[in-house]
Amino acid sequence: MKRISILGSTGSIGTQALDVINDCENYEVVALTANNNIDLLEKQIKKFNPKIVGVGNEEKARLLRERLDNNKVDIISGIEGLISAATINCADIVLNSVVGMVGLVPTLEAIKSKKTIALANKETLVAGGEIVTRLAKEKQVQIIPVDSEHSAIFQCLTSGKKEEIFKLILTASGGPFRGKNSKDLENVSLEDALAHPNWVMGKKISVDSATLMNKGLEVIEAKWLFDIDIEKIDVLVHPESIIHSMVEYIDGSVIGQLAIHDMRIPIQYALSYPKRKFNFLNRLDLAEIGKLTFEKPDNKTFPCLTLAIQSSTIGGTMPAVLNAANEMVVNMFLQKRIMFKDIPKLIENVMNSHNVLYDPTLEDILQSDMWSRKQVQKLVELK
Ligand code: MG
Repeated sequence: MKRISILGSTGSIGTQALDVINDCENYEVVALTANNNIDLLEKQIKKFNPKIVGVGNEEKARLLRERLDNNKVDIISGIEGLISAATINCADIVLNSVVGMVGLVPTLEAIKSKKTIALANKETLVAGGEIVTRLAKEKQVQIIPVDSEHSAIFQCLTSGKKEEIFKLILTASGGPFRGKNSKDLENVSLEDALAHPNWVMGKKISVDSATLMNKGLEVIEAKWLFDIDIEKIDVLVHPESIIHSMVEYIDGSVIGQLAIHDMRIPIQYALSYPKRKFNFLNRLDLAEIGKLTFEKPDNKTFPCLTLAIQSSTIGGTMPAVLNAANEMVVNMFLQKRIMFKDIPKLIENVMNSHNVLYDPTLEDILQSDMWSRKQVQKLVELK
């Protein structure tokens, strides 16, 4: 029996993780957290009986306590709720599927409590990679990736030793605007950006896929997760999203992981690791698919990929600044306050005015994050 705490249980990854858990007898849910959606959270509590529940604010916590009346669950609001769920004594695994920078501190706290981390929160490694991986090493805690690309690499890495790796090849679908040029992107709408060809995902990550920032963030995550130089990580556009990523070894052998695009596969692997478990999901039918295609990423039309890699090469607090600026501009795009084409321009502008702090502390990272958000606000108000 594995006992699991899920941070962000009402989001896309959280709900699919509960699907996986529901279909398997070997898991017990001990904690759940959600920011906003207490209707769904209430249903999840009734079904899975967690001991601790975290919600976004005290108002929602009170509402939920009223609704659950006699239930023995402990409901805690705000960051404290997230931290309580991340550090709950009885959990073996903490699945962090929170969206945004708010996921960083709970990951650090879960590592301090020696929980195995199933990581779906990108910001943990993008903004805090240096301190998170250092702490995980010190506490001998394993971070198991949930994202399909990193799960693929994690699986491919069982084929060789670290010193035998030639490069990592992260695949990218190319998003809804693949094949378009900068001119085509001038007037694209929010609805166009949200229409991902292969995956059904949350709104933030859908926009990040349309700008290719998502792939940039994934390159940074891969660097920290697998402790590999960023120059040894390639991005390959593969529109069918069947090969989820690959590892090329020094002898020229390339090992890839293939599967249908269903996030329940990498989620299940993260939870069942080091074992594999049978499931009833659809099977990959390559004859039906017929052919797989590949192309280079178009860095000119999608500058966010280059910006992300640059931020990581610069290092220190720069990736946190990139990440925060991106979170802000994506939110503004979702609110239709800025255009799609403004996204990379605003991020680059903020990066150019940042004074990098090297070997950052958690405090430095959080402050750079705040600074970056304020910069975006200023720039957009000036427009
Ligand atoms: Mg991904």
